[in-house]
Amino acid sequence: MNQTKKYKAYTLRNFREIPQVQSILTEEEKQYIEVVGNVLPFKTNSYVVDELINWDNIPDDPIFQLTFPQKGMLVKSHFAEMRDTLAVNGDNKNEVLKTANKIRKQLNPHPAGQNENVPELNGQKLPGVQHKYNETVLFFPGNSQTCHAYCTFCFRWPQFTNLDNIKFAMSESELLAQYIKQHPEVTDVLFTGGDPMVMSAKNFEAHINPLINGNIPHLKTIRIGSKSLGFWPYRYISDKDSDDMIKIFEKIVKQGYHLSFMAHFSHPRELETVAVQKAITRIRNTGAQIRTQSPILKHINDSSSIWRDMWKKQVNLGMVPYYMFMARDTGAQHYFGVELNRAWNIYRKAYKQVSGIARTVRGPSMSAHPGKVLLNGVTTVNGEKMFVLQFIQGRNADWVNKPFFAKFDPNAVWLDDLEPAFDKDEFFFEIHDVLNN
Ligand SMILES: *Cc1c(COP(=O)(O)O)cnc(C)c1O
Ligand code: SF4
Repeated sequence: MNQTKKYKAYTLRNFREIPQVQSILTEEEKQYIEVVGNVLPFKTNSYVVDELINWDNIPDDPIFQLTFPQKGMLVKSHFAEMRDTLAVNGDNKNEVLKTANKIRKQLNPHPAGQNENVPELNGQKLPGVQHKYNETVLFFPGNSQTCHAYCTFCFRWPQFTNLDNIKFAMSESELLAQYIKQHPEVTDVLFTGGDPMVMSAKNFEAHINPLINGNIPHLKTIRIGSKSLGFWPYRYISDKDSDDMIKIFEKIVKQGYHLSFMAHFSHPRELETVAVQKAITRIRNTGAQIRTQSPILKHINDSSSIWRDMWKKQVNLGMVPYYMFMARDTGAQHYFGVELNRAWNIYRKAYKQVSGIARTVRGPSMSAHPGKVLLNGVTTVNGEKMFVLQFIQGRNADWVNKPFFAKFDPNAVWLDDLEPAFDKDEFFFEIHDVLNN
């Protein structure tokens, strides 16, 4: 029998209609959601609510934490500011928005210089494209700037709260194809968003065709970065264009491309439903490979047994563990952030309990301004305790895989918190940065 479900989105506007919210949450907890949800984006859906969240374990349930705003996600002063605005001016949308934007500005909405990586084609900026590492171009289709639900920790949150800035140009993928044609170093296009799998099959195909029919021999891999398997697996089994989407995947593979579905899973619970397992099978049967990635987050997955179980289950379902990320320095990082030292310990403890087949995973990794930086370990040299780091990807490709060292700091959560070891003034890549400018 086919599994079906009707997609229903819940946001600030209608979350009080969710039966489980009505019967389980206190009025106070609903108010927390309203206060925080007016600053950070809030959206969940019928699958997450009915099949993923364990409502007997509220508010600690990891999937509840993943999609429902929690009081602690705003620092006390921000929380009080929004609570007071809602109490006095709750009916005045402009006032609420003014307070929200004021708070948002203080939450580092554009980390890692994302706006710097926008390339040009014949002197024109390509706004939906980022090209930071030689081989891989990121593509943000204008019609995928949303997701089937929103992760409360997401670093892309300014996109969801600022939707009026986003334009959809019909020709954007034609321009992308032209750009890649002029850049023989590019082998991969990564569709991202939001979530590109919120697009209809028809729209997705319109984006894919210029790439795979564009006579670009150096383009080899199409990647799709998506949380749809976690948030809406029915996308591949019972939506009205599920079969069409599957056919597009088949077409990409048949034309000789490697199709890599970069699936975002935050918790092993997301791998347990009948729907997700069916969806995984369907996608794999197209010839696509599914690789998995997630940030490590307090309140959601900061334990080694969770990661061990997640990697094991992923391999069991035919997927390839790929990245464990550090939480970005944006939004509610004070709530979700795990210290580097702790993340490495969790990673190592999980890693040593899985077979080599699951040790394709790399982490913990920070997507920072100079590149993707891997924390390889903690060690002591001549009595000085230090972090051993290396670039997985670098703004300068030559930085990759050279070990470098930072003073050990148990409280550091991000690259910016680190200082060079051995009493050096700068990290090697900072010196290069100056020379290159
Ligand atoms: C992570 C990332 C990529 C892809 O890197 P891989 O290591 O090839 O998976 C590409 N561009 C940007 C900006 C990234 O952050
Ligand atoms: S699915 Fe991805 S882009 Fe969407 S909210 Fe979650 S982390 Fe952000």
